[in-house]
Amino acid sequence: LGSSRTLWELVERRAALTPDAPVLIQAADDPADDRMLTFGALRDRAERVAAGLYARGVRPGTVVAWQLPTRIETALLSFALARLGAVQSPVIPFSREREVGFALRESKAEHFAVPGVWRGFDHTEMARGLGARGVFEAHEELPDADPSVLPAPPADGADVRWIYWTSGTTSDPKGVLHTDRSLIAGGSCLAHALRLKATDVGSMAFPFAHIAGPDYTVMLLLYGFPAVLFEHFALPDALAGYRRHGVTVAGGSTAFYSMFLAEQRKLPPGEKVIPTLRLLAGGGAPKPPEIYHAVVREMGCALTHGYGMTEVPMITMGAPDDTAENLATTEGRPPPGMEIRITDADGRWLGPGVDGEVRLRGEAVCRGYLDPAQDTAAFDTDGFLVTGDLGHLTESGHLVLTGRAKDVIIRKGENVSAKEIEDLLHGHPAVGDVAVIGLPDPERGERVCAVVERRPGGGALTLEAVTAYLRGEGLAPYKLPEQLEVVEALPRNETLRKVLKYKLRERYARVPLTREP
Ligand code: ATP
Ligand code: MG
Repeated sequence: LGSSRTLWELVERRAALTPDAPVLIQAADDPADDRMLTFGALRDRAERVAAGLYARGVRPGTVVAWQLPTRIETALLSFALARLGAVQSPVIPFSREREVGFALRESKAEHFAVPGVWRGFDHTEMARGLGARGVFEAHEELPDADPSVLPAPPADGADVRWIYWTSGTTSDPKGVLHTDRSLIAGGSCLAHALRLKATDVGSMAFPFAHIAGPDYTVMLLLYGFPAVLFEHFALPDALAGYRRHGVTVAGGSTAFYSMFLAEQRKLPPGEKVIPTLRLLAGGGAPKPPEIYHAVVREMGCALTHGYGMTEVPMITMGAPDDTAENLATTEGRPPPGMEIRITDADGRWLGPGVDGEVRLRGEAVCRGYLDPAQDTAAFDTDGFLVTGDLGHLTESGHLVLTGRAKDVIIRKGENVSAKEIEDLLHGHPAVGDVAVIGLPDPERGERVCAVVERRPGGGALTLEAVTAYLRGEGLAPYKLPEQLEVVEALPRNETLRKVLKYKLRERYARVPLTREP
């Protein structure tokens, strides 16, 4: 099945193999409202939706944006667009005017599918207010027509058919161009890394509109097992859905591991938060080694974590049978077909163990950016994507990420890695989570600021206590934070709960340095 040229071909081949097997299970708050879709129904219903969209004027190449929650209907709409060969641009359901307007303008969307009023917010009204074209609601009811009118499905998966949006961690979101082929390659990589079985039951804690959506869905199509979905993912309620459907593999990211752990810690010893769970698999954000060890020890399941980005859904992934050391401290290895180069700033290749910039080439790499200006800067002359991430490869070929190029603080001309300080602070008993940022400083160029989410009961959190701790851990004095901010909660995005450092920089850049160390 991995040789399928288009996503629609993959759907048809899977549907012919196991038409009656479930692919998506929608877990509702009330179990009586749980719903299920089979591979056969996915093919048949998506064809009808495609015909309905065709009647609305959607043709191969038409740009259709959608901002829809993680529901069976959304998968049907997305596959219907794939069936038509339209260009689709998924927008995260939690985004508001600023990001949605940006996505609609940049992608020049001719149609925009919205959920109507969802979780108390009127998306239709927002879309109208933004002057969106071709607004239609696609929540409970989808466009529907007799599929006999449809032209043939696209024959080739090499055309750009997807515009995904980056998280906007470092600046405005970037429109990333994917093809059916790059998404199939990404999903195949994930499937290869995780070594799952047709008897597994997966689950998605992230929205379909995230790049992990197609990655995961391709995996379901390749293996033929189902995933449990949540329209609104919230613990502890979602746990009932996991248990009810016997989830064996849970997808998510670091913040989700912590959420699961917190639930596990509420239970008496010997009781498991999800009894059937054997593998927690995620990625997309830094994972402190302590979390790895705590999950394995306390939840009694394996944890594999990987490196991915909107531009390349899966780059490396931990293999479930790798050593604890590698799983705790690395992002795993690249799957076949993914080339990783570590280079200096001029693109010169560096050997194992030496930190540099991560560059990538392979079928799963995006075809470029929507904005051609971003494109030329992003690919080197060998066609490798310059990621802006920093790290090294070990002798065994495992990738270790050490930060982002934009996350290096240049203090009095010395490079200070935010990640090095963050990793050390994760070991401090009063630190729940932490983000270290550089702030403009007239004397130093940049100064080091640690923004900390307090862990209750962990003792004093003052600049003095924190710097004493870091000194004790052997951190060089020139890297010590000069400013400490203690916050209730770090600003995070809604998808992977990633910390938005640019918001912290905005917030604290203007705050004068109160205490000189
Ligand atoms: P923008 O490009 O708009 O600033 P972003 O890069 O955060 O936003 P995403 O594509 O969602 O948008 O995130 C990809 C980035 O997330 C990677 O480039 C990397 O910096 C980070 N990342 C992904 N996986 C990991 C991981 N396992 N460990 C640490 N960081 C990771
Ligand atoms: Mg990025």
